[in-house]
Amino acid sequence: MELVRDFPMIGLAARTHGRPLIECRQCGFSIDMPEWSENLDGDRVRHLWTCEACGYSFETTVRFAAA
Ligand SMILES: [Zn+2]
Repeated sequence: MELVRDFPMIGLAARTHGRPLIECRQCGFSIDMPEWSENLDGDRVRHLWTCEACGYSFETTVRFAAA
């Protein structure tokens, strides 16, 4: 038995290649763009992520190392 996958999945993989990805903490769906980003101070950025698959939202904080 052969399982045929939807072609849009291939397009999604190509579109997100080489870009930062994060997985939904609820369902594991890959999210490639934060809903919005906020600069907290000089070297920290907070991202708000919203999953397109299940609608779950969560935040991450990224700290950039000082040069
Ligand atoms: Zn999700």
